[in-house]
Amino acid sequence: MLQLRPNCECCDKDLPPDSTEAMICSFECTFCRGCAIGVLQGMCPNCGGELVRRPVRPQGKLARNPASSERVLKPGGCRHVA
Ligand SMILES: [Zn+2]
Ligand SMILES: [Zn+2]
Repeated sequence: MLQLRPNCECCDKDLPPDSTEAMICSFECTFCRGCAIGVLQGMCPNCGGELVRRPVRPQGKLARNPASSERVLKPGGCRHVA
C-alpha cells in the first residue's frame, strides 16, 4: 500500500492524500508537481527513477487506511542539476 507521504521532499509543500499535485517514484519518494516537473525534470533525485502522479485515495478508504503523517524532507532541498 502507498504511504501517501504528507509533503514534498524538496520544498516541504503540503500534499494531502487527495492532492492531484503529488508525484512519486517507485520507492514513494514524494514531490510536488512543481518540483517534479521543474527542478527534477521528471526524475527522482534519490533513486534516479521516474516520477509519476500519485493516485488519489478515495476519502472513504482513508479511515481504515490512513495516509502517512511522517514528513520526509531532503536536507538542503533539491538543487538544479546543471
Ligand atoms: Zn516541491
Ligand atoms: Zn526515488
